[in-house]
Amino acid sequence: MKIAIVGAGIMGLSTAWALHRDGHEVSVFEQGPIPNPRGSSVDEHRLIRHPYGAERGYTRMIGDAYRAWDLLWADLGARHYAATGTLVLDRGDRWTAATAEVLEAERVPFGRLDRRGFAAAFPLLTSDGLAGALLLESGGTLFAGDIVTSLAAYLRGRGVSIAEQTPVREIDASRGHLVLANRATIDADMLIVAAGPWAPRLLPELSARVTPSRQVVVYLEPPAACAAHWQTHPMILDIDPGAGFYLVPPRPRTSGAASGLKIGDHSFTLSGDPDRDREASGEEARHLIRQVGARLRDIGQYALREAKTCFYDVTADERFVVEPVGNRAWVLSGFSGHGFKFGTAIALELARTLRGERDSAALAAWAAGVLKDPP
Ligand SMILES: Cc1cc2nc3c(=O)[nH]c(=O)nc-3n(C[C@H](O)[C@H](O)[C@H](O)COP(=O)(O)OP(=O)(O)OC[C@H]3O[C@@H](n4cnc5c(N)ncnc54)[C@H](O)[C@@H]3O)c2cc1C
Repeated sequence: MKIAIVGAGIMGLSTAWALHRDGHEVSVFEQGPIPNPRGSSVDEHRLIRHPYGAERGYTRMIGDAYRAWDLLWADLGARHYAATGTLVLDRGDRWTAATAEVLEAERVPFGRLDRRGFAAAFPLLTSDGLAGALLLESGGTLFAGDIVTSLAAYLRGRGVSIAEQTPVREIDASRGHLVLANRATIDADMLIVAAGPWAPRLLPELSARVTPSRQVVVYLEPPAACAAHWQTHPMILDIDPGAGFYLVPPRPRTSGAASGLKIGDHSFTLSGDPDRDREASGEEARHLIRQVGARLRDIGQYALREAKTCFYDVTADERFVVEPVGNRAWVLSGFSGHGFKFGTAIALELARTLRGERDSAALAAWAAGVLKDPP
């Protein structure tokens, strides 16, 4: 088939990869540069981790995700990933209890630390208010910017057409028709709309389901005394609605370049315009540092390296929207701040569906984390 893809973030490029592997003729149209600093598939890293609260479907999909990344690493000849392990802080909350239950049910190995064991094992953190922690060997950092850059280069090297600075102005999902901003038109057998937080502009019916959400992240420079310790520290998930955060520990990238220590707040703002509102203010950075400061010992000794913004495309239940639209289009949207890790797996499953090996409803349910076949 002749397939046109809108968007060259992880979803668009992974889909181009999977469909090109199947022998389709693929073209990608990207409104900005690649990677687009305004898109979501940017920055140094994105996490992959098994703990997902009560979401057993997404926990199980992590196995599919790791297999899909391995296939991509083999094609690229490079592995843009660093294992870190995963530390889930347990405040005696429901999210952690549900996580432990699901990990057990899915037979994902993990250990439990009580408060005393936690304090001994993780001296860079305070144990105030914690019951203990869950610790997993699995989980790590996908080097997002490097993946997008090398995937685009790989695809171009194999004849996939990727047009940068080429906004798509409108689509006709029933005819497989695209109109570019320069008024040129493209006809395809199938369109894939992977336009991140901009998707509702091309498919207005999505605006009731998908909301752009401006998020702030902060890079910190740890004090010299604990810099080496952070290089072996697991990622941290502190999922608390009032004061939760995630922390990505620094690791060397595949290229040898460093990646920094990053913290972010996963609570959604559900506001902002991805074409504007891009600068993080000093107050936003300080707010996040204060939040994490209750957990990181000696926070006053960490220097603020950089504060950035990035946009999520959020659905009400945080489930992905991977669905057919009209007769000749699919939309990949609603990734709600947790889609990167699944980009390659979703692409391979979409390719399977287009081969007729899976039906669209089953793909949509799987991508939404809905389990049809519990063991
Ligand atoms: C701060 C932050 C932290 C995150 N952390 C994690 C994490 O730890 N783990 C995880 O799995 N996920 C994480 N995510 C989520 C993840 O990054 C996203 O779910 C994923 O990158 C979405 O990819 P995408 O391809 O759908 O969107 P994007 O990367 O935004 O790509 C969409 C592309 O479409 C282009 N486009 C839009 N409209 C048009 C048009 N009309 N014409 C042409 N091109 C167009 C855009 O320019 C853009 O490049 C995080 C997100 C953020 C913001």
